[in-house]
Amino acid sequence: MITAVQKPFDEIYESVSGCKKLLVLGCGTCVTVCMAGGEKEVGEFASSIRLANKKNGLDMEITEDTIERQCDREFFDDVKAKIEDADAVLSLACGVGVQFCSEVFQGKRVIPGLNTKFYGTTLEMGVWSERCAGCGDCVLEKFGGICPIARCSKSLLNGPCGGSQDGKCEVDPENIDCVWQLIFDRMKDLGLLSRLEENEPVKDWSSGRDGGPGKIVREDMML
Ligand code: SF4
Ligand code: SF4
Repeated sequence: MITAVQKPFDEIYESVSGCKKLLVLGCGTCVTVCMAGGEKEVGEFASSIRLANKKNGLDMEITEDTIERQCDREFFDDVKAKIEDADAVLSLACGVGVQFCSEVFQGKRVIPGLNTKFYGTTLEMGVWSERCAGCGDCVLEKFGGICPIARCSKSLLNGPCGGSQDGKCEVDPENIDCVWQLIFDRMKDLGLLSRLEENEPVKDWSSGRDGGPGKIVREDMML
């Protein structure tokens, strides 16, 4: 899933100041799972803004809603009237949802309430961890299913740097495992250690972000 965290309330409050009619809009998919922008958080944000407005003597009409996904056009149908009626939308979706809401409702101000972080997984309640950087040419098969691009701090593809100590990454030894230790251990378990002796060629980064904004065209799926 795409993970995100909430922006500091003061930053959001400054962004929405001046609105007379504000819609706080949640997203029911990834950011609900990572407890940043679902229905519950929409209610909390709306209440906090109402309280701050009361304290500051500001008059602002606030409505709330949450749709299934803000990255798909069809789900906006249910809240079209609310969006059109508002001065601005405080979107609690990831950056994709915020931008797509802006595209669907041209001319409407859409304010991000979250900071989008990474593609990751839930390790335990309240802990999420990065697993993929969307490089566009997956190499997991070569590294025992562990991604050196997303999980090595330097995205090294041919073994660890000199900063790997006791299985920990020099960038933050307290919190980050050296992914090359994880890869070594996994490949050993799989009986595939000899594959790590093969030189991994220089990666063509143009398959991902370095190739410019990504686009997928599936002609077989097009009408
Ligand atoms: S190799 Fe690329 S696509 Fe595969 S998990 Fe890593 S970043 Fe994601
Ligand atoms: S210590 Fe390991 S994870 Fe950290 S940058 Fe070096 S090789 Fe990558």
